[in-house]
Amino acid sequence: MKEQTPDLNLCAMCDKGLDGQNETNCQRCGCFFHYYWTDSPDYRSCGALASHDDALAIVFLCIDCIAHSRS
Ligand SMILES: [Zn+2]
Ligand SMILES: [Zn+2]
Repeated sequence: MKEQTPDLNLCAMCDKGLDGQNETNCQRCGCFFHYYWTDSPDYRSCGALASHDDALAIVFLCIDCIAHSRS
């Protein structure tokens, strides 16, 4: 078992720790991933806003789900 702070999650996309602020969770698979609220070339988000197949709404999706929805 990995040692982990209970209130901090790991990003499901890049396996790096999330800081509790620059993160959100995927509306499709539920995983947590990096999402940087401020645009900066230094940070790369591990997901993005995308349209959801079923909900017909704009939701957060991880890069995996985005890739799968664009087949
Ligand atoms: Zn990440
Ligand atoms: Zn996902």
